[in-house]
Amino acid sequence: MTNGQNKHNLEEAIHSLEPQDWGEFHDLAVRALEDMLEWLKTSRSHPVWRPMPQDVRRRLDEPLPAHGQSPEAAYEQFNELVRPYCNGNAHPRFWGWVQGSGLPLAMIADMLAAGINPHMAGFDQAPRLVEEQVLRWLSSMMGFPDTASGLMTSGASMANTVALTVARSAKADWDVRREGVRAGSWQLTAYCSEETHSCIQKAMELLGIGSNALRRIPTDAEYRIDLDKLEAELDRDVANGFEPFCIIGNAGTVNTGAIDNLTALARIAKQRGIWFHVDGAFGALASISPKLRERVTGLELADSVAFDLHKWMYLPFESGCVLVKDAVAHARTFAVSPAYLGGDERGIIAGGLPFADRGIELTRGFKALKVWMCLKAYGVETFAAYIERNVEQANYVGHLVRESENLQLLTPISLNIVCFRYAAAALDAGILDSINREIMLQLQETGVAVVSSTMLDGKLALRCAIVNHRSEQSDFDELISAVRSIGDRVSAALTAGKGGFA
Ligand SMILES: *Cc1c(COP(=O)(O)O)cnc(C)c1O
Repeated sequence: MTNGQNKHNLEEAIHSLEPQDWGEFHDLAVRALEDMLEWLKTSRSHPVWRPMPQDVRRRLDEPLPAHGQSPEAAYEQFNELVRPYCNGNAHPRFWGWVQGSGLPLAMIADMLAAGINPHMAGFDQAPRLVEEQVLRWLSSMMGFPDTASGLMTSGASMANTVALTVARSAKADWDVRREGVRAGSWQLTAYCSEETHSCIQKAMELLGIGSNALRRIPTDAEYRIDLDKLEAELDRDVANGFEPFCIIGNAGTVNTGAIDNLTALARIAKQRGIWFHVDGAFGALASISPKLRERVTGLELADSVAFDLHKWMYLPFESGCVLVKDAVAHARTFAVSPAYLGGDERGIIAGGLPFADRGIELTRGFKALKVWMCLKAYGVETFAAYIERNVEQANYVGHLVRESENLQLLTPISLNIVCFRYAAAALDAGILDSINREIMLQLQETGVAVVSSTMLDGKLALRCAIVNHRSEQSDFDELISAVRSIGDRVSAALTAGKGGFA
């Protein structure tokens, strides 16, 4: 390449990041939007998930592009290589893990947020007021006071981590920010049930307290923390010189949707001067329904709560939230004031950086906009109605399972999660796990429906977690009939001695 050519290319490049022809860009933007709306509108007609062909895997492994192709070419490749091969949670028959379905209006909100692209550390700007407003709305949805502090986070893992950090700072009787966790003469310990999500363990490790200091208390027959065992463990630890700083209650465990006795946990924590945190990743949202609120009673007594709007409020990823009742303790845990972020009385930074002072991240996106727009557009009662419908659907699946000769319900249905399995009487108990795993995989691979699995009492369970606003009753009929027919086929092949499943 001659010098002249190189200069020409660079000049061209300099003009490409902002559209040169806004008309052309407008056409691309409209097409992208129309294609996406069409895809959402017709979601039921696509397979829930499809295995990726080798060719797609190969084409998604490219060298770094030195020269641009064009915005249109990049969009075409998204259409061809990316959109058809996502994990499927926008589909009406996706009930794997706990993944929300995504609202079309929130998609628009995310686009608008990226368009204005505000820096959400704080600042004197309307987006800051929108996030503050959203946090007050979310506080009232959780039964927390108006004065609670909070932060929109990427998800519940981050929200739980922020909350445990506040608990650590508030309850350690030395300056843990300054001295670190080793400086105290006491060893901090935290308490939760064995059913608690792994992100709590990660938080304990990250905070330098260590996962050994997380006491996992056994559960009762309904997978709720055993309160007597909790008290006994607390007594033992105190007698041995440990310093219990936090009890973590579950409002909806990830395995079965079990809800701990939150009122009792709040009382135990209060009596002992311990922080009470609730992981309510999806279950905390039950509190917005007048019918279901009673199941999460005691949530309003917590010192902090973590939950996700990208689960049971159907918003797109990422939209988690942490609320902390003691706003001073929250800010004391994270606030710093380096010179380059200094405040002024007037101007853009007059509002300070309140969100940077409530968590780990300085630069944050405008996640609150989608919450604000969707609550305004639909109102909280609409979300409550969908949540109630999901609970009814879980009970309906339970009913279908109980009515089906070869199916077995493995746990009580506490909320929106159904754990069941195929278990024809003639089959040897030893092969049920592999049959059920095969059923789950064939459901996924044929694109009929997605459920995930878990182990309960040493048994592999098909786990159907319903946080999907698109599911209709007929979708669950289809699931159960597919489970039965795959189960029959797989077990017939096995008992006929054919060996393999396929
Ligand atoms: C999903 C989940 C988490 C983790 O939340 P993320 O948003 O995935 O980080 C924590 N606890 C429970 C009970 C969950 O269901």
